[in-house]
Amino acid sequence: MRIIILSRNRALYSTRRLIEAGQQRGHTMRVIDPLRCYMDIASHRPGVCYKGETLEDINAVIPRIGASVTFYGAAVLRQFEMIGAYPLNESVAITRSRDKLRSLQILARAGIGLPLTGFASSPDDTQDLIKLVGGAPLVVKLLEGTQGKGVVLAETDKAAESLIDAFRELEANFLVQEFIKEAGGSDIRCFVIGERVVAAMRRQAREGEFRSNLHRGGTASLVKLTPEERATAIRAAGKMGLNVAGVDLLRSNHGPVVLEVNSSPGLEGIEGATGKDVANMIIQFIEKNAKPHRTATRGKG
Ligand code: ADP
Repeated sequence: MRIIILSRNRALYSTRRLIEAGQQRGHTMRVIDPLRCYMDIASHRPGVCYKGETLEDINAVIPRIGASVTFYGAAVLRQFEMIGAYPLNESVAITRSRDKLRSLQILARAGIGLPLTGFASSPDDTQDLIKLVGGAPLVVKLLEGTQGKGVVLAETDKAAESLIDAFRELEANFLVQEFIKEAGGSDIRCFVIGERVVAAMRRQAREGEFRSNLHRGGTASLVKLTPEERATAIRAAGKMGLNVAGVDLLRSNHGPVVLEVNSSPGLEGIEGATGKDVANMIIQFIEKNAKPHRTATRGKG
């Protein structure tokens, strides 16, 4: 098969592993920078151009689109969908998952366990907002943040009020969320492919920190999931419409709660912690599922 990896950097671990796994299984792998793609939209024969070349006969596309280029990257992926290439994750699902608030609303509607979460616009509602999530300690999260940036813990109601006021002053969009203290600074990353959790790891925040992101010095280890955690991760990925997803869970007193569903989960941490060849499993999933024009979004946007 001819498989394109949409990625800005071929040197990244995840990109390198996908190239390797694809080549090992006999595919032609090519890395394309989404920001260097341009598109013929109006034509009766839509096309994707790349540095003067029209890309044709592409069987599948693996989107590895960074959060900062979501808008353009999703447009490029949509164009690949229009020319019949199979997207590992659809453009619509990626856009959906990049919006934290929208994602939580979709998961809540499906009855998936979440931390109590509130969202409000007016400063007049701040005290009610704090009450809604059960009071301090609570977490305030910027909607645009990634890798734990913009996730702040407020230990008292007073601190929460000041923090919320300050964010409002900056006209930032943020969520207010119950602090899951019993998680003890650790979360669980479930790597979902299709209808299976193929690998899982526990990430533990370093001493004095509650955010377990590996980018913030968290450490990863093997974890055994409960059937409920496994089912929650698979349902969450499914509700977002993602074939491949990194579902982050916390172990709370009221069962597993989903923090986030990531549409471009990194391979380095999970392969390192579990010793599993996740890249190979992704390529095998593509082999089974990539058929021309196999995208639910075709013609619907
Ligand atoms: P990001 O997308 O920036 O990584 P997250 O919402 O995943 O933001 O939060 C980063 C980390 O902070 C999580 O991995 C988790 O360890 C911790 N965390 C986030 N929300 C909560 C919460 N409500 N209760 C306890 N810990 C949390």
